[in-house]
Amino acid sequence: MHSPSQILKDKFGYESFRFNQAEIINTILQKQDAFVLMPTGGGKSLCYQIPALLFSGLTVVISPLIALMKDQVDALRVNGIKASCLNSSLTAEECSAVYEQLNQGDLKLLYIAPERLFNNGGQFIDFLKSIEVSLFAIDEAHCISHWGHDFRPEYRMLSSLKKDFPTVPIIALTATADKLTRDDILNKLQLDTTKIFISSFNRPNIHYFVEPKRGMYEHLVDYLNQHRDDSGIIYVLSRNSTEALADKLTRDGFSAKPYHAGLTNDCRKESQDLFAKDEVKIIVATIAFGMGINKSNVRFVIHADLPKNIESYYQETGRAGRDGLKSDAILYYSGGDVIKLKKFATVEGNPEQSRIMLRKLSQMASLCEVSACRRKAILNYFGEEASDHCASCDICLSSREKFDGTMIAQKALSAVAMLGSRYGLTYMVDFLRGSKSGKIKEVHKNLKTYGIGNDISKEDWFRYLHELISMGYLKQIGSEYPILALTEKRPLVLQGKEQVFLVKTISKKETALAEKPYEKELFNELKIIRNNWARAENVPAYIIFSDATLLELATYLPQTEQEIRKISGFGDVKLAKYGQPFLNVVVAYCAKHGLASNISEKIPKRERKAKREVDSDTKSISYDLFKNGKTILKIAEIRGLNPSTIENHLAFYILKGKVKVTDLVPLDKIPRITAAIKKQGQYPLAPLKEALGEDVSYSEIRAVINHLRIGKGCSPL
Ligand code: ADP
Ligand code: ZN
Repeated sequence: MHSPSQILKDKFGYESFRFNQAEIINTILQKQDAFVLMPTGGGKSLCYQIPALLFSGLTVVISPLIALMKDQVDALRVNGIKASCLNSSLTAEECSAVYEQLNQGDLKLLYIAPERLFNNGGQFIDFLKSIEVSLFAIDEAHCISHWGHDFRPEYRMLSSLKKDFPTVPIIALTATADKLTRDDILNKLQLDTTKIFISSFNRPNIHYFVEPKRGMYEHLVDYLNQHRDDSGIIYVLSRNSTEALADKLTRDGFSAKPYHAGLTNDCRKESQDLFAKDEVKIIVATIAFGMGINKSNVRFVIHADLPKNIESYYQETGRAGRDGLKSDAILYYSGGDVIKLKKFATVEGNPEQSRIMLRKLSQMASLCEVSACRRKAILNYFGEEASDHCASCDICLSSREKFDGTMIAQKALSAVAMLGSRYGLTYMVDFLRGSKSGKIKEVHKNLKTYGIGNDISKEDWFRYLHELISMGYLKQIGSEYPILALTEKRPLVLQGKEQVFLVKTISKKETALAEKPYEKELFNELKIIRNNWARAENVPAYIIFSDATLLELATYLPQTEQEIRKISGFGDVKLAKYGQPFLNVVVAYCAKHGLASNISEKIPKRERKAKREVDSDTKSISYDLFKNGKTILKIAEIRGLNPSTIENHLAFYILKGKVKVTDLVPLDKIPRITAAIKKQGQYPLAPLKEALGEDVSYSEIRAVINHLRIGKGCSPL
């Protein structure tokens, strides 16, 4: 019998358990009930997926949303695990195929919505009684409680599970439950002897920032420009503002879509799919966008408006960084938002509830206003202890001191005076810094204040201008494209009659995704390959590999199959399928840039059964024979292998610079294959092969791909 840690490694490609995963899994394996409270991205799914693989019967997973089910099933299938779902999106044939699998005992996991589980007067429950069910997993278990924020009446029916299946263990999982909700869940599910597992709510990889809302758009654009390759969510309060902001961002060259409950189902589904597939980078949404988002590589969550309480803020920001990589939560704060939200917080005719809502709102506001660690404030709110300094929130990352900023103020005010109050913040900053960009009007480039502030960074200028605005030396007029204008306070400053104190923020804000240095360019190349596979298999990119896996590849630069199997996320099935293509990209990149493997820096791991180790040897045997002058046909004969296998072996050595492409591909075919690759991309190979026709083989395509990879351009010689 396999052990949980072996399954973790072979099936999922992970090295060790997180939090209390191991303990939870053992509890389930002993057929005891468990209640799991773990933050988003903590790794709840493995807590029932691993027992599911160790039990002989079926694990039934109750999940509230079709999108979530589909995602989980896809993710399991790419790891070679038999899983299906039953929900209203399936056709009649698809449904009967699932029943067939169930009857054959051919499924390890079945995802199902609660209403489906109990429909037709319990027919499905009776059916389950006729087969072997080993475990019930209740995902998003807080839905059973009306104290929770997503109460679903259908979840109530789950309380009969214990009665119907008294010997089958139940695991209930959620990321959000206060004490009240927690007790309610235990009570409703009748899990009296349940073991309760509560993990810390800290999300160390999420970095928290609060920025002033004034001049938000410029700051936002600046941030998004620095994160062009990243995906993220921007939350706003109203439906109208989702559309307005998404439009504005689109006009400014970003890939953004709105999302709110007023859009048609199709429209919402399309945006969500495009986002999942990384084809749209930014979703501007109301809080309607949330529960169904399983995307693990959300790199930032931005609140353009204040959330109404810390619970919502925590939950929404929690959608960032499920893959464990550094992600940002940025909130644009203004006192005006508090006033606006107060109106919504007042519940007509219910003073008690109004009081609670208002208190929660003011706790949210004070989280933004404190000048102490934000993370500590959040954790304390949830009743958890935390250290005073987290080193990854805006407060902990910066130290502030006041200094005499009169000169800076004079530069800014005279520049605004010279240009006449007609331009926005960004133009002003570019002008002050003497930007060469074509956006600056030629006549302005001749003014003597042009470039007067080129000793100050763009970021600092934005900050100083904001401070000058908040101190009343400048003002912004207009809402959509606000312009900077002077105020009556200007003469005093310009004549040097008034000193201006600004706050110097010494920001230690790091932008790196990871602590260790990694090859950025390679990381992006790997993302492209991953997206091509995802498109071909019609699943979201993160289902193929998480960003964390790609980052490890770009950090440790594995050069052989043995090395790549040490990268987290390469379970046996993914290794067999994607190992070589991803390895090829890394090897080629390293060859081109003269880099060597760093795999020894990865914390040593237990060796996996090296069952594919022979593969790398087998290549070198073919290569040795080739070096000794044997033809491909001869090598195939000697080794009892297919000639095309030998060609594949040798194609690998093109990457190493040891075999020439012309050794494997006739000269006249190369330009045609090259053109097709350039047109369609490198992977997957099947569409390429189809386009090139019968007389071009897979190994020839591989050879040319590898040849192009090592950067020798199109010339084969
Ligand atoms: P949750 O349901 O708690 O939000 P998931 O189960 O979706 O979280 O897990 C989040 C991510 O972390 C997934 O990509 C998952 O594969 C990964 N993960 C879970 N457990 C581990 C582990 N022990 N080691 C490495 N990655 C893990
Ligand atoms: Zn902090």
